[in-house]
Amino acid sequence: MRKVVKDLDNIPTSLISQEAIDSLRNVIDTKDNNLIKADIYRGKYLKTDGSKGDEVVEELAKIYHEKCAYCEERTLIYIEHYRPKGRVQTTKHGGYYWLCYEWSNLLPSCHECNKIGGGKADQFPVSNKHLTYADCLTDQQIDSLKVKATYLNSIEAPFLLHPEIDEPKDFLAFEIDANKNGVSMIGIDETGRGDKTISICNLNRQPLLLNRLDYINDYVNTEIKKLFAKLSKGIISKETFSEEMKELFQELDNQKMDEKRPFTLLRWFVMESADNFHKLAISNLSRNEQEVALAFFKAYKNGTL
Ligand SMILES: [Zn+2]
Repeated sequence: MRKVVKDLDNIPTSLISQEAIDSLRNVIDTKDNNLIKADIYRGKYLKTDGSKGDEVVEELAKIYHEKCAYCEERTLIYIEHYRPKGRVQTTKHGGYYWLCYEWSNLLPSCHECNKIGGGKADQFPVSNKHLTYADCLTDQQIDSLKVKATYLNSIEAPFLLHPEIDEPKDFLAFEIDANKNGVSMIGIDETGRGDKTISICNLNRQPLLLNRLDYINDYVNTEIKKLFAKLSKGIISKETFSEEMKELFQELDNQKMDEKRPFTLLRWFVMESADNFHKLAISNLSRNEQEVALAFFKAYKNGTL
């Protein structure tokens, strides 16, 4: 997960149409949860100009660069309700159906992160109390369909991180997982929100561990190994080795800013400190090569390479 900026004032028209407002009123007035599955919400995410396609999915795909908000893999995305719409697992809360048109409650997710059994699904644990629509919606607010997640989060204090509100860098880190042979995500905050987010969305499932490791191996480890091999065989001089290491670090720095690539947070994390780089990117090198690569990395970060 990485921080994403979404303009909450630029709302897809399908979410603020009169039809959407009428549907929401119908659910609230009748308290009929079946309407959430049937009438409301799916059809109302479609384009209002008559053209084909799902306006909300398309907008979210654009903003999130077709990546899942939670695991950051590029994938077919589905609309995920940050606050579950139908019910809240292990509680008697009837779900946040009144937020099914709230732009800040809609995130793009892959199937795996949000699936029932092994994914987020209806999980939404909070530190305080789960709010109902009666707690915070006035009639006027229903008409504007606006109860932003920032406001709700400030009261409920949910454990699940919200990529448009929280700064994931403050909660999440990575490490090589020797047992599972991959790169694990770990929580680093004292409140436990990082760890809880990982467990809710199952962000250490085996395919993710391996795909993160593939990134490290394909884009970092292998390239550095190639440079060492060329140097030892005398194919390149020490000066060229130094220049090519610098170019590689620059490329990695460019990639960490490239939102279109998967695992933006991991890319940032690897390049953030010499310690991170050492533990994640070059642990497969020989001890001597590790020392040399680390010295080059430090020089690059100091601006002396
Ligand atoms: Zn995902």
